[in-house]
Amino acid sequence: MSSLNVAKFGGTSVANYETINNCASIVIKNTNTKVMVVSAAAGVTNHLVLLANTALTSEQITDVVENIRKIEFAILNKLKKPSEVEDKLFALLDELEKLARHEEINYRDDLKDALMSMGERMSSLLCAAIIREQGSPAINFDIRKVLRTDSKFTEATPDLSNIKALVKQLLIPETEHHIVVTQGFVGADEQGRTTTLGRGGSDFTAALIAEAIGASTCEIWTDVIGVYTTDPRITDKARPLPELSFEEAAEMATFGAKVLHPATMEPALRQNIQVFVGSSKEPDKGGTWIRRDCENEPAFRAVTRRKDQVLVTVKTPKMMYAQGFLERVFSIIAKHELSVDLITTSEIAVSFTLDNPPNSMSEKMNKETLVELSNICEVSVERDFDVVTVVGNNMHSEAGVSSSIFSAIADFNLRMICFGANVHNLSFVVSNSDSEDIVKRLHKALFE
Ligand code: ASP
Ligand code: MG
Repeated sequence: MSSLNVAKFGGTSVANYETINNCASIVIKNTNTKVMVVSAAAGVTNHLVLLANTALTSEQITDVVENIRKIEFAILNKLKKPSEVEDKLFALLDELEKLARHEEINYRDDLKDALMSMGERMSSLLCAAIIREQGSPAINFDIRKVLRTDSKFTEATPDLSNIKALVKQLLIPETEHHIVVTQGFVGADEQGRTTTLGRGGSDFTAALIAEAIGASTCEIWTDVIGVYTTDPRITDKARPLPELSFEEAAEMATFGAKVLHPATMEPALRQNIQVFVGSSKEPDKGGTWIRRDCENEPAFRAVTRRKDQVLVTVKTPKMMYAQGFLERVFSIIAKHELSVDLITTSEIAVSFTLDNPPNSMSEKMNKETLVELSNICEVSVERDFDVVTVVGNNMHSEAGVSSSIFSAIADFNLRMICFGANVHNLSFVVSNSDSEDIVKRLHKALFE
């Protein structure tokens, strides 16, 4: 087994010259780190989403582009030798502005993805320069040469076998003489068109590259010292977790723990790559290790919240439709490539939740899906819900699990409950005005 490491740095870690210097030191210090994967500097991707998804006036475009320029220039101007990368950065900013002003930018997902990729393309250029400044050889590698995906723009799926072959051929040789600094989140389809992996996708990139180079570890550096028992912004009693299993981490990421993109655990699981989550500001404070075999497997590990859920209920009053009803409903959902998270069913009705976060590239419950569902049944769409999830182990067989959870939140209205399909997860759909209190209550009952 190799001891190679891939280190990924999120937007807050590469937000400015000082924070990037912390990242560079972390990378250089660990001689096993061959690849550095970076996000766009904090705020840049949200600006790009605005440019891609909103009809803006020419002046408004100028303002948003100017905001991005300021973030990048603040870093460039502090470099010891800005002239080394200046021309490249100017060219990227020109490309960005051209895309932002393209007549069809709000309608064409291929153009949107080209625009969305600019944040990572700029930050990787600057991060490589800062590593060189600190005295180590580094190159800025264009991930589109190796991160082959399908052509589902804004949420592309990686093509694993092609990625592996291309990484072997084009990326691994570069690691012999340099630290390879590359872009998270970005890919390219077979025709070479730029794609992206969905918001927060840089973690996924890091895990994919770790898998492709045969790394044994993948570090996810962010602004918190690991994964917490719950979001520390909800309660100051939240504490960092020293370890988590792949399954628990996947549940937590899917159900709202913001520190990891949900797909990150797939490559880790496939190749048993240990994933570390820590703070680039305080690298010595340790963090969370996510691994296959944990020392402890407690019944309760964490409480997560996922905001902005849409609850869809489909109902058919005619019992004769009940047979094959589920199949029809789900074939419509599958056709529109919607990903359903929670489901409950009764004889004549099905409720399910869809994720609908702000700043995502597409509206999940779109009109076309609604129209098609309405053709076969009654449909109601309710918003203003959050999902609260208790993540743990053996929750189906551990005595007293449900009573300790339910008694803690007995006075709240639970709109939907999901339990049983997975031994690591018990989820509730609740009103968004209650979710914070529910998380606090559960955290107190289970962890304090
Ligand atoms: N920059 C992208 C985003 O903000 C990808 C990432 O940071 O993981 O979603
Ligand atoms: Mg992230």
